[in-house]
Amino acid sequence: MRTETSPEDIHGMDAAEGILTARGGMTSHAAVVARGMGKCCVVGCGELRVDRKAGEVHLGEHVLRAGDPLTLDGSTGEVILGTVATVMPELDPEFGQLMRWADRRRTLRVRTNADTPNDAKVAREFGAEGIGLCRTEHMFFEADRILAVRQMILAADVGQRLEALEKLLPMQRGDFAGIFRAMEGLPVTIRLLDPPLHEFLPQTEDEMAEVAGKLGRSVPEVRARIEGLNEFNPMLGHRGCRLGITFPEIYRMQVRAIAEAACEVAASGVAVKPEIMIPLVAHVGELEKLRALCQVEIRAVQAEHGRRFRSAIGTMIEVPRAALVADEIARHADFFSFGTNDLTQMTYALSRDDAGKFLPDYIEQGILEDDPFVSIDEEGIGELIRIGVEKGRSSHPNLKVGICGEHGGDAKSVAFCSRTGLDYVSCSPYRVPVARLAAAQAAIAAAPEAGHKKVSKSPKKKAKRKRKGQ
Ligand code: PEP
Ligand code: MG
Repeated sequence: MRTETSPEDIHGMDAAEGILTARGGMTSHAAVVARGMGKCCVVGCGELRVDRKAGEVHLGEHVLRAGDPLTLDGSTGEVILGTVATVMPELDPEFGQLMRWADRRRTLRVRTNADTPNDAKVAREFGAEGIGLCRTEHMFFEADRILAVRQMILAADVGQRLEALEKLLPMQRGDFAGIFRAMEGLPVTIRLLDPPLHEFLPQTEDEMAEVAGKLGRSVPEVRARIEGLNEFNPMLGHRGCRLGITFPEIYRMQVRAIAEAACEVAASGVAVKPEIMIPLVAHVGELEKLRALCQVEIRAVQAEHGRRFRSAIGTMIEVPRAALVADEIARHADFFSFGTNDLTQMTYALSRDDAGKFLPDYIEQGILEDDPFVSIDEEGIGELIRIGVEKGRSSHPNLKVGICGEHGGDAKSVAFCSRTGLDYVSCSPYRVPVARLAAAQAAIAAAPEAGHKKVSKSPKKKAKRKRKGQ
């Protein structure tokens, strides 16, 4: 139980049976991470007050201490005192049959949002056809590397930053190699670093003292750097590709790690299909510059390894301006992926993390039919997506277009994506079957009489058919 979670809580969330937060909504950190892990989570429980010092939580008039049992229902948002009897759901053979029928009819591909080889494996078992979003920031919180990440952020100059990045390079290379191996030649879209840097820094005085000691810096020095990185509006601040513009060496290290991992895995006989994704692009100049940076680094690694592989470079469309100038942006992108979490936040001027406090009133009073963070608001955010797709393909007819916001696993939104001509949706591993079924239903609604067509062909089967000359 937390007031809200931050990337720093990743290990606690991993260990938890369920997650309950006082603040947040459908696309806030706790919800996104828990969904990815397949864990039960209730966010935005306004009556929850966590008193970390006293080691207790207040839930309305109830006080709970560590070890007290609590039951969560992640579907209804209910929080129940005590233990409620539960059963593990089982997938019966009819489920597999239904999914096969769905795959014959759908035209949308279904990928997954996965950050680890294990997530990737789970998602493939559910039928994912690639990774549509690998968020690299979660890897930065591993116990063995957070110190190097902090050293990189607290660096006084480029030299010191490069020293820290040298330590991170082999770790990131290992992360990506693991994911490429798990995906065996299916496309893997890796997003370069996105969150504001202060999220990685220690918050309490004790943690600051510990980091200062380990890095041989003074506490006031560390505190001053943390204060310097604080922002009034971090979600509109120094994050996404803006980090790549000001600290190009961070993105260079990540691209090198991707390229080196691709060479290593390809050399072992496993096919690789990396796709590098630049977050939060608002202006074509950002993408132009960062695409060039990626290409230079990829070419350098390929020359060093004497190996060539194709790597697509694309961008997220998650800032309204990017959708409006999508024709310019598409000239420098191999693909678009709509980040509808941020796109909804920025277009609706609704905070992803705080709107949960009042959005239920809007739904109760009939102002809104759905929470726009759950189902795409087709009139507003949907219109921006339509503009983005149309303008993007006007200057780049073969542009591949997908979606990787949480809406990619929502049946209503998947239907919208199918109607709007997207190539794929990407969602958390456990929602892949939901997306497959919804995509089939959308295809049938659009062409009820159409014949059965299989879209899902694994590269392995494809290669086999090729060998057989089929
Ligand atoms: C998004 O904004 O939709 C997205 C997928 O990125 P994140 O949730 O990591 O901001
Ligand atoms: Mg985003």
